[in-house]
Amino acid sequence: MDEHLNELISDLKTYLEYLKGMGIDSLPISKNFLERPNPSDLLTLQRIRKELGDCKRCKLHRTRRTIVFGEGNERAALMFIGEGPGYDEDVQGRPFVGKAGQLLTKIIQSIQLQREEVYITNIIKCRPPQNRNPEPDEIETCTPFLMKQIQAIQPKIICALGTFSAQTLLKTNAKITTLRGKVYDLEGIQVIPTYHPAFLLRNPDKKKEVWEDMKKIQQFMSQIERTYPEGKDSR
Ligand code: SF4
Repeated sequence: MDEHLNELISDLKTYLEYLKGMGIDSLPISKNFLERPNPSDLLTLQRIRKELGDCKRCKLHRTRRTIVFGEGNERAALMFIGEGPGYDEDVQGRPFVGKAGQLLTKIIQSIQLQREEVYITNIIKCRPPQNRNPEPDEIETCTPFLMKQIQAIQPKIICALGTFSAQTLLKTNAKITTLRGKVYDLEGIQVIPTYHPAFLLRNPDKKKEVWEDMKKIQQFMSQIERTYPEGKDSR
């Protein structure tokens, strides 16, 4: 049995080396979810943004000022996914730039990373009026674009910020209090839910839990760096 396994591993190594020699340095994570069937269909963030266009697919387009698509490293090993744009984000067209965003920047820096090294986006790209919660039809309409962003970036880790992000990614109705503290597998991507920075601003006593979640992310990131010693982008 061991011999057979060793043989399989050896064959796999040879095959991966062959692909590397062909200039292919990454593989699709899963057949049916994140697959890249054809190089001509290769998803890029640019293409996804173009496809989104001046989106009017859900009712949020009526009240938004700007579509907040996302920003950061398009080859990021780590993605942060929040709920939706707020006032400042809607004005500036960038994710997490208000007070909660400043806190997120500090959280990212606390694990020795910079905003530019990760990718930051939300499950919905337009601000709900008065910052109300996103509604199910809005999430359903917008999420395919998020999934395409994930497919294009191929992160190793996703930090889901807050209830709506965690519930959408993990397809559950469980609350963030139940979901956080554990690591989930999303087609080969480690999903680590934590509290939304806006919630943290209102509940600073929860910082300890977020720090625990960040330490987990940091551990995973150091494993990735060991696997890909040339750098986080070399995946
Ligand atoms: S929230 Fe998403 S689906 Fe709705 S209008 Fe904005 S970009 Fe389009």
